[in-house]
Amino acid sequence: MNGSRVLVLNSGSSSVKYQLLDMADGTRLASGLVERIGEGPVADHAAALKQVAEELARQDLGLDSPELAAVGHRVVHGGTRFTEPALITDEVVEEIEKLIPLAPLHNPANVTGIKVARELRPDLPQVAVFDTAFHSTMPESAARYAVDVDTADRFGVRRYGFHGTSHAYVSRATAALLDRDVSEVNTIVLHLGNGASASAVRGGVCVDTSMGLTPLEGLVMGTRSGDLDAAAIFHLSRVGGMSIDEIDTLLNKRSGLLGLCGDNDMREIGRRMGEGDAEAQLAFDIYIHRLRKYVGAYTAVLGRVDAIAFTAGVGENSAAVREAAMRGLTAFGVEVDAVRNALRGSGARLISTENSRVAVAVVPTDEELEIASQTFDLVSD
Ligand code: ADP
Repeated sequence: MNGSRVLVLNSGSSSVKYQLLDMADGTRLASGLVERIGEGPVADHAAALKQVAEELARQDLGLDSPELAAVGHRVVHGGTRFTEPALITDEVVEEIEKLIPLAPLHNPANVTGIKVARELRPDLPQVAVFDTAFHSTMPESAARYAVDVDTADRFGVRRYGFHGTSHAYVSRATAALLDRDVSEVNTIVLHLGNGASASAVRGGVCVDTSMGLTPLEGLVMGTRSGDLDAAAIFHLSRVGGMSIDEIDTLLNKRSGLLGLCGDNDMREIGRRMGEGDAEAQLAFDIYIHRLRKYVGAYTAVLGRVDAIAFTAGVGENSAAVREAAMRGLTAFGVEVDAVRNALRGSGARLISTENSRVAVAVVPTDEELEIASQTFDLVSD
């Protein structure tokens, strides 16, 4: 292998996000997004990737450059089959296709992205990095639902977790911020974006996470309900006459903050709360209540918590969410400094007081850098 550049591709159903990183120094050489695949000029994923290739070529960073060492693909679901990044072969592509029933919205687009990229550069090493992989270390006690074992195993019904590259990156970056080895630090990572998940990470190893079989479980999210009595689905079907697809859409796309108050953007909710809007306030309160429950639960799971890290769009930007989530937790050894919390900044930073036993931090996530590093590590071996 010669080059030190990695192209990271995140192929969604209607968009492709890309970043080109140089792993020699971690610099970002190019990034962009091709949207509305299937509508108008970008007919399909092949056309979208061709557009990415042309854009990179215009900047003298073309796919044929000898500097390019590998392509790293984000793949949402690795099931129990993939617990680490995988060098892509025909067999690996087939295995990812077999996992489509577990992630029907995401894995098909991920596979298409892989196939098209392999056609463009068949000789180049390509790596699949899975959103679930970091959580594969969860013990069975955390990963299993209390459901009939034979049925659960037959259909793969267990907790896989998602946002794994973010939880991996942020737990390591938090240890670095504390100037400690990751193996010594127990961290609760709160990834609060439009999708949201919490994880309990003991010495760099994930021991629990809030998303489950699918990204629906756990925290209140922009449009997803998070935790819910599964019997609500029977009720909506039997009493509400809704179909399974309608309930799926309701819980994934029309619930969460959006379903509660009509807005899923925390900035808008904050603005409305400032005007005394009771609906927005209740949505915020439900969001915070759920978040605090997970912080309490993961404190018990870990036994000793060294750090709580806030990340992603809401976690990195909303001082109000951080303040409300951490309020009154002095019995847990958590004390947030109001001034530090309110300061806007770009890098990883502490927001806890000097006396706080638990370090509370804002740690910007970088999923693309994590995918690029895991890809580069695998192909450099
Ligand atoms: P995704 O899950 O789509 O990757 P992000 O991590 O980018 O999402 O988070 C997007 C969300 O972050 C937005 O929906 C919004 O609620 C929130 N957000 C972004 N900027 C701010 C801000 N300045 N204050 C509060 N919330 C913000």
